Amino acid sequence: MARALILAVAASMAIACGPSVVRAQAAPTFQSSGDAAFDSWRNDFAQRAVQRGRDPAVLGRLLSGITPDDSIIQLDQRQPEFVSPVWDYVNNRVTARRISDGQALKAAIGPTLDAVEQRYGVPEGIILGIWGLESNYGGAALNYDAASALATLAYEGRRRAQFEGYLLALTEMVERGLADASELRSSWAGALGQPQFMPDVYLSTAVDFDNDGKRDIWNDRGDVAASIGNYLQNRGWQRDQPVFDEVRLPSSFNYALADGSTRSVADWAGLGIRRIDGSAFAGSDLTLQSQLFLPAGANGPALLLHPNFSVIRRYNNSDRYALVVALLARAFDGRSGLVASWPVQTGSLNRDETLELQTLLNSLGYQAGEADGQFGSNTRRAVRAFQVDRNLPADGFPTEALLEQVRARAGVSTNPPASTPPAADPPADRTPHALGTSGIRELQRLLNRQGFHAGRADGNIGPSTRDAIRRFERRHHMEVRGRATDVVLEAARAAAR
Ligand code: CA
Repeated sequence: MARALILAVAASMAIACGPSVVRAQAAPTFQSSGDAAFDSWRNDFAQRAVQRGRDPAVLGRLLSGITPDDSIIQLDQRQPEFVSPVWDYVNNRVTARRISDGQALKAAIGPTLDAVEQRYGVPEGIILGIWGLESNYGGAALNYDAASALATLAYEGRRRAQFEGYLLALTEMVERGLADASELRSSWAGALGQPQFMPDVYLSTAVDFDNDGKRDIWNDRGDVAASIGNYLQNRGWQRDQPVFDEVRLPSSFNYALADGSTRSVADWAGLGIRRIDGSAFAGSDLTLQSQLFLPAGANGPALLLHPNFSVIRRYNNSDRYALVVALLARAFDGRSGLVASWPVQTGSLNRDETLELQTLLNSLGYQAGEADGQFGSNTRRAVRAFQVDRNLPADGFPTEALLEQVRARAGVSTNPPASTPPAADPPADRTPHALGTSGIRELQRLLNRQGFHAGRADGNIGPSTRDAIRRFERRHHMEVRGRATDVVLEAARAAAR
């Protein structure tokens, strides 16, 4: 009874409202993808999107004919086994090729870049550096359809709300005619076009620099450059301020000051810090609020990071990324890179070693945070506290020597065991020869068995194997080359006996 009454009331209301009644639009319907769970998520999402005002026709166009892409799910779930040392990260990105390609692009579209720099106050070199890293100046293939990538990641569910938000933004981009549905190419993670914007960033930040009605970050270089400039300006870029200065620290400097805290450059200068060329800071630079950063610890370069450095980090939340952008910008102008050399010989910890370090520091009462193999700020703080207690330079930088000290403090035997016999010294006049695939495979197996984490024994020399060789060489007091040679193989065989 009650039900019939309600229906009657609803009907009379609709009649009373007449033509002005707002009817919810029907959600689009899709052909089955063959995956019932995906179909169910897609129908549900499309319905909610329509309720939130998105256009069913556009949703239908974007979400039809797609299936969840297993390769994307695998990429999303992979854990990086190896975190490369900062010097490898920098050297692999600030390459002669990337520099000359950036210079060529600068020569090709100079007036456009000048106009972008003028409007947003961001130097061309910084824009080019980001452009080069994000998409190799547009040369990198965008192998995924954005709707398909975003739908896969929303469906996967780990960050469903976030990726559904991106899908809504993507739909709005097409509805507003800012981008064509056929153009929406992305990375596997759904980052769009040459500047690699997520769809919400595109909506808030992408620029139609040539005023043709499209914010074409896939094909139009002016739109790309202006979009990057606008991004940095929106996030606080300060016109005419430097990004960083390489500096020289006074002897007996308290490295614990490089803990991320911010001081004025005048204060840093008062602590005896000078530019690397010995010149003093002057003028408006003295008022910058800056951090001291030792990317490779006390034995490597020392940098004062100015506020614009943090703005670059807003593009990609990584100190090394921002450093590479700044170094590329210098290189485009023909300026040199860092003066101090990287402490390559100190080594750096891989994921397993970082995990061990965190576990041991936690067991010793230093709060390194969750032992996850990622070297984050909690672990850095714990390392620094350990160093302070042991009267070591408190740079918070993890090295193998540090791990050894933490192991010793925790009463853990080193890995490999100290009882491992030392490898025979190779004769001094021996010329090492590179190994073939089977030799590399044997070397990898030997290194793995001895706890050096060379990765899968596949006969290919990758970063984990090179790193394992370096650690082996250091452990056995050999010259550290990181190369798979017959000399290293023989030493590894001898050490295994
Ligand atoms: Ca345009």
